[in-house]
Amino acid sequence: MPNRRRYRKIQSPPAMEGYKPFGVPMRELESVVMSMEEYEALRLADYENLTHEKAAEKMNISRPTFTRLYDRARKNVAKAFVEGKAILIRGGTFISGEYWYRCNNCHETIVSLTPEENCDKCNSANIVRLDTPDNNETNNDSR
Ligand SMILES: [Zn+2]
Repeated sequence: MPNRRRYRKIQSPPAMEGYKPFGVPMRELESVVMSMEEYEALRLADYENLTHEKAAEKMNISRPTFTRLYDRARKNVAKAFVEGKAILIRGGTFISGEYWYRCNNCHETIVSLTPEENCDKCNSANIVRLDTPDNNETNNDSR
């Protein structure tokens, strides 16, 4: 049976692209990549205090899948904290039901029900879609 990845639901984009540790020079900074789904799992369980059962329902995934995402999210956070790495929140396999963008000019996060071409805040056309699956991964390229 083909193992197709189901699209997971995410409620809203993170307010930032990631986190940087304080007091580590940029040139020495390595980063950990956290997927949007891992971020969502952490948000639902540890911020919204939902049970894994309820959180899995919200994301349209099974409870074991949720628990795997959640464990990965916590491991990534722990690794970044302990090793002094940055966290980049990007990519993944999910749907939002909305259009999400980030402005490369003013770094505003834009959430819209319709496609946008310009930033809400600064009107820059330099915006990137956030709610599309990660196309930068070299594996699983099925074009
Ligand atoms: Zn802007």
